[in-house]
Amino acid sequence: MRIILLGAPGSGKGTQAEKLTFDFGLLQISTGNLLRQAITDGTKIGKKAKAIMAAGDLVSDEIVLDLIKMSLSSSSNQNSFVLDGYPRNISQAKSLEELLTDLDLPLDYTVLIDVDSDTLIKRLSGRRICSKTGKTINIYFSKQSEIDQCIEAGGELIQRTDDNLESIINRINVYKEQTEPLIDYYKLNGLLKVADGNSEIEIVNKQLIQAIGIQI
Ligand code: AMP
Repeated sequence: MRIILLGAPGSGKGTQAEKLTFDFGLLQISTGNLLRQAITDGTKIGKKAKAIMAAGDLVSDEIVLDLIKMSLSSSSNQNSFVLDGYPRNISQAKSLEELLTDLDLPLDYTVLIDVDSDTLIKRLSGRRICSKTGKTINIYFSKQSEIDQCIEAGGELIQRTDDNLESIINRINVYKEQTEPLIDYYKLNGLLKVADGNSEIEIVNKQLIQAIGIQI
């Protein structure tokens, strides 16, 4: 199965993509994670992307397309994947379509994870990553025991550099202007499914699996 997870920042695309990877063995391709790794590694791409990402703007279409091509070609599992964070505009969607046509790997579905704006802002502004376990925690929604677990393991709760309020608002605006048109684009292609992303992770996951009628 080959799917795209579409949704605003904070809609839970990454979390749901990880679950699909864990439960069904899909290859997760997250352009956000690949770019953050490039920044950590200090690569040329990372240097170009750093300030753009911190501000919440989009990195160039050429860079992200190269990352997608590299991920697909370096995996032995390119038949089944979940794209999380790509495409983010119409031009990226068209490039993806060309690439997947060339590879004879057509998409099965694009699933929109639909979340209210207020919830998005709370999720993003409360998001922290445990420096020790790498687990994502939310200071508003996580159980105290999850936070304690990180501290007891000697970890610190780190905020992503683009999870400050100014960047969050910009990211949501960029989503509305550039990414939301993809909803109609995939609706017209007949590939769009919608899952309500306002609930807890497990409930959203069930909806998502139902939406794509998983037959992996
Ligand atoms: P994410 O982890 O998906 O929220 O992405 C974090 C940031 O990485 C975004 O705000 C963009 O700056 C950059 N990014 C991720 N995916 C893309 C993409 N497909 N096109 C352009 N920029 C991207």
